[in-house]
Amino acid sequence: MSKHLYAVIGLGRFGASICKELAREGMEVLAIDSDEEKVNEYKDIASHAVIADSTDEFALKDLGIRNIDHVIVAIGDNIHASILTTLILKELGIDMITVKAQNDYHEKVLNKIGADEVVHPERDMGKRIAHSIISSNILDYLELSDEHSVVEVKAGEKMDGKTLIDLDIRARFGCNVVAIKRDDDINVSPMADDVIYAGDVIIVIGADQDIHRFEKSLV
Ligand code: ADP
Repeated sequence: MSKHLYAVIGLGRFGASICKELAREGMEVLAIDSDEEKVNEYKDIASHAVIADSTDEFALKDLGIRNIDHVIVAIGDNIHASILTTLILKELGIDMITVKAQNDYHEKVLNKIGADEVVHPERDMGKRIAHSIISSNILDYLELSDEHSVVEVKAGEKMDGKTLIDLDIRARFGCNVVAIKRDDDINVSPMADDVIYAGDVIIVIGADQDIHRFEKSLV
């Protein structure tokens, strides 16, 4: 099987971090930026680093972008360039296009023109950090949809020594405990009589409003 090929367009903070991580994982990455300095920085990190304006369809074709399986468009402030680049990639038939959105309107347009995945790292990270600020026992927070999330919480005194039946999280809050982590062990199909101890990490899935009630009452 041939190796999966990636391209990252835009080597700002976000694109650069994706590019570095893909390269670190041994992936084949083509790094593209219109800024020569940025490209020079990535010459030794990415498999190939080239200077190009991604809003120029011919430039992208010349680079052989059609051979790339997954393109990440990480152009930040220039929303116009991000949209135009996505449109060109779509027309060139790229299999998988992930685009970073700057704001909700940008996200809507990207979805409309057929971006396969739209990410909103600043907004999502902001939400995750806000939840961990509310309680230091909330370790992580992942939005699944506009209304559903997964939250990772550290069990405190309120849960210590109680079984899932005692806590009755599903009936009281409408959320489900999907896993319990204790040191290096992870129990991915917790039973009603499994006991939770302070310091365990429990992973809960549910509607945002239910998770909110659960956090207020037990975390
Ligand atoms: P971040 O917020 O992730 O730091 P930036 O907006 O600072 O993002 O960086 C975006 C990068 O995208 C810059 O390095 C910029 O040179 C590059 N870029 C912007 N427009 C284009 C384009 N049309 N073609 C290629 N690269 C571009």
